[in-house]
Amino acid sequence: MKSYLRLLRYVLSYKRYAVLNISCNILSVIFSLFSLTMVAPFLNLLFSQATAYEKVPLNFSVKSVLANFNYFLGNYIQENGKINALILISGLIIIMFFLKNLFRYLAMYFMSPIRNGVVRDLRNTVYDKVLQLPLSYFTEERKGDLMARMTTDVQEIEWSIMQSLEVIFREPLTMILFLTTLVLMSPQLSLFVFVLLPVAGLLVGRIGKSLRRTSTKGQAKMGQLLSTIEETLGGLRIIKGFNAESFSRAKFRQTNDEYRKLMKRLYRKRDLSAPLSVFMGAVVLVIVIYFGGQLVLRSDQALEPSAFIAFIAIFSQIIPPARAFSEAYSNVQKGLASAERINRILDAGITISDKEHPLQIQDFNHDIEYRDLSFAYHKGGSGWVLKDINLKIGKGMTVALVGQSGSGKTTLADLLPRFYDPDAGEILIDGENIRDYRISDLRKLMGIVTQESILFNDTVFNNIAFGLTNATAEDVEAAAKIANAHDFIMQMPQGYQTNIGDRGNKMSGGQRQRISIARAILKNPPILILDEATSALDTESERLVQDALVKLMKNRTTLVIAHRLSTIQHADEIIVMQKGEIIERGKHAGLLALDGVYKKLFDLQAFA
Ligand code: ADP
Ligand code: MG
Repeated sequence: MKSYLRLLRYVLSYKRYAVLNISCNILSVIFSLFSLTMVAPFLNLLFSQATAYEKVPLNFSVKSVLANFNYFLGNYIQENGKINALILISGLIIIMFFLKNLFRYLAMYFMSPIRNGVVRDLRNTVYDKVLQLPLSYFTEERKGDLMARMTTDVQEIEWSIMQSLEVIFREPLTMILFLTTLVLMSPQLSLFVFVLLPVAGLLVGRIGKSLRRTSTKGQAKMGQLLSTIEETLGGLRIIKGFNAESFSRAKFRQTNDEYRKLMKRLYRKRDLSAPLSVFMGAVVLVIVIYFGGQLVLRSDQALEPSAFIAFIAIFSQIIPPARAFSEAYSNVQKGLASAERINRILDAGITISDKEHPLQIQDFNHDIEYRDLSFAYHKGGSGWVLKDINLKIGKGMTVALVGQSGSGKTTLADLLPRFYDPDAGEILIDGENIRDYRISDLRKLMGIVTQESILFNDTVFNNIAFGLTNATAEDVEAAAKIANAHDFIMQMPQGYQTNIGDRGNKMSGGQRQRISIARAILKNPPILILDEATSALDTESERLVQDALVKLMKNRTTLVIAHRLSTIQHADEIIVMQKGEIIERGKHAGLLALDGVYKKLFDLQAFA
């Protein structure tokens, strides 16, 4: 229920439409009621009873309105004949039906901006949240499942909850109006209706709960399915290369089939509610006809036959809204399962955020300092990934991190732009803890080039100018030239306007990397983080990229993680890491003289 109210909050931004929708629905119900009450004079006319009425004082009771209408009709018949009266009544019924349906359409017309608006807002909110969440969130969750929540779950909410939003408000209104009319027509007979309807409703409602459980499982399975598809699309090259098609196929088939089974159960449960409620409705109807018929047949004729038939006509019209309501209820249950899955994203803690009054920082002036820093990915465990790191990088200096894979180099670098926060100790820039700076200011100081170039399916130009709104063609070109990228870009079909494909798969690794470097050059940050920027490249493109990197590093403060030691021999300080700790540090020559781990690493590469 809480999730439902939470969704309704999104509707609040569309108050105007909601009011219009409700007004139109009220009008539609009123006209529908009028068209149904027309049955009584119609029958009276056929059975020649209309003339028997007297004029009575007009007031708000149904009886008085009907009596007056009959009086008017009696006069009309006397003056114009029965056939004309029939034409009149038929015309009135058509007009009533027309108005009823016109307002019904208008109600839906005003509903569609609410439905679609809420879904858009929800999708925006989730996307914004994904952009805000810390990186650590995404290592814990499956990508495909997150995608499922942002797509199919939002869709599900549109289908089941938004669809029923109107029903939930309209049908009770219809029922109340109709029931009131019934009570006014025959209080005795209405008593049965009041006892019987809730009993029938309760039975149908029970299905809803079990529907919701199945739906949660179904959506989770859909998430798994999307995960598999996503991984397959990303790994097709390996799947084909390792002849793993049948393995992938079997895995996909299994998940897909489990999904099918869940959905089969879901639909069967959902579809049960309709026939069940139709049957319950028929039973109730027969009971009402039985008792109503007795009232008519009684010697004092407590109910007139025509009024009885009008009563039945109106009553039969209560069943569809009651059914629609119970169906909507079970749909909402199904949709709420999706709402809860989305809420789990929306409620996830943003552990890395600006403090209340963050410091601004435009320039980097003195130094970066890691002070007694420790960090673990899995909180509470004993596995420190970084332990007691102390490191100072003065402005303009180049500090290199070396060490075996898994020794914590990337982690150390990731802490600087606050992708993660340390568990102990702190990082200072110009003497202030980086947690005190505004995050966007802090990240503006840094340019990052990683081993895997992160490119987007867009033009070369937009990939280089990424995140900058005011980059000119000259700026982008100048950056590309420094990055040794201009020449090959000009050879592409549309130059800078060429689309580079998913993650830049229309380019070679070295080309992709030079685009990433051009991006960093254009941003022109004072601090550079280079994480094995050349390690995925062949020697030829490594030379080009290395050359671009040297130009990029000029006059900047650089934290460079190198897999090839030859590229960092001139670093101001080399830090050797092992299992999250700094075990050796110094200049190239000094470290060689030390004859320790660095010397061993160096020798391994020298003879390789
Ligand atoms: P390096 O860059 O030196 O190869 P990393 O900093 O990437 O090393 O990794 C250091 C350790 O932290 C490794 O043992 C790795 O398994 C672990 N690790 C890295 N990233 C994550 C993560 N997102 N979640 C959990 N553990 C991680
Ligand atoms: Mg690494």
